[in-house]
Amino acid sequence: MYRLLIAVVAGLLALASTAHGQAFPSKQITLVVPFAAGGPTDTLARIMAERMSRTLGQTVIVDNTTGAAGTVGVGRVARAAPDGYTIGIGHWSTHVVNPAVYQLNYDVLKDFEPLGLIATNPQIVAVRNGFPAANLQELAAYVKANPDKVTAGTAGVGAASHVAGVYFEQKTGGKLRFIPYRGAGPAMQDLMAGQIDMIFDQAANSIPQIKAGKIRGFAITAKTRLAAMPDIPTVDEAGAPGLYIAIWHGLWAPKGTPKDVTAKLTTAILEALTDAQVRERFAALGQDIPAPAQQTPEALAAHHKAEADLWWPLIKAAGIKIE
Ligand code: ASP
Repeated sequence: MYRLLIAVVAGLLALASTAHGQAFPSKQITLVVPFAAGGPTDTLARIMAERMSRTLGQTVIVDNTTGAAGTVGVGRVARAAPDGYTIGIGHWSTHVVNPAVYQLNYDVLKDFEPLGLIATNPQIVAVRNGFPAANLQELAAYVKANPDKVTAGTAGVGAASHVAGVYFEQKTGGKLRFIPYRGAGPAMQDLMAGQIDMIFDQAANSIPQIKAGKIRGFAITAKTRLAAMPDIPTVDEAGAPGLYIAIWHGLWAPKGTPKDVTAKLTTAILEALTDAQVRERFAALGQDIPAPAQQTPEALAAHHKAEADLWWPLIKAAGIKIE
């Protein structure tokens, strides 16, 4: 009886310590990617997951929970148990644009614990091989002359790929036909197969395909060219001045995840970002890794808030709606 009691007490103590995160992580961690496999967010998530697994001593598995421009996956993280075993990756459009477009049942600023800001990349305006335009100006002229004909793949209404397209329409006076996918991964497959005409896609997704000659890149949505793709002009150089979009990715845990748990996750993120191999892979994908002081949870929270304040009025004014 006495032995049994001791065993029960020991068991309860072990449970309590796990509940308080002392033993964290004692099993695999799920990193929710709110877009399809093979896309830009998925690519970055897999690089991070692999390296974070080493620091944490447990596998970080990537789970693609897709749909509605990332709102399904981000919602899943918001409602997950706040124990550190379900975390999420998101970016400018999931965590800044979506609340201005969708009625969400979570609050991007209040329902998450920020873990770290990982990298930023611009987009590349890319077209299928064989599309009748040789540069951005010709593309803009063609779109204007053929309203509602040129098909642009997006990762859903309000995804970065869609917002950039609306921005392009406003700058050039043309009208595109947007084709939504569950992520830029499948949209890219269709672009390479010639099923759609163009995409406004994160550099991470486009660079490998442009290098392989499977699509053509006309412009970078930034003030400066990308070191990984120096031949592609900026939007300013190519004829759509000011069409800047910078998509930053961050990682979050559900609100209420204990501090000692989030601290371990943050350490794994920061370690990954100092790893030479990770940095090399990110650089090849056009990713700009922020300075260490800008990678922290506090820096992510501040950047997130500043971006929301900047973009919410602009997105609302642009009238992006779920059709
Ligand atoms: N992040 C999306 C993806 O990974 C792309 C987008 O937001 O446009 O597919």
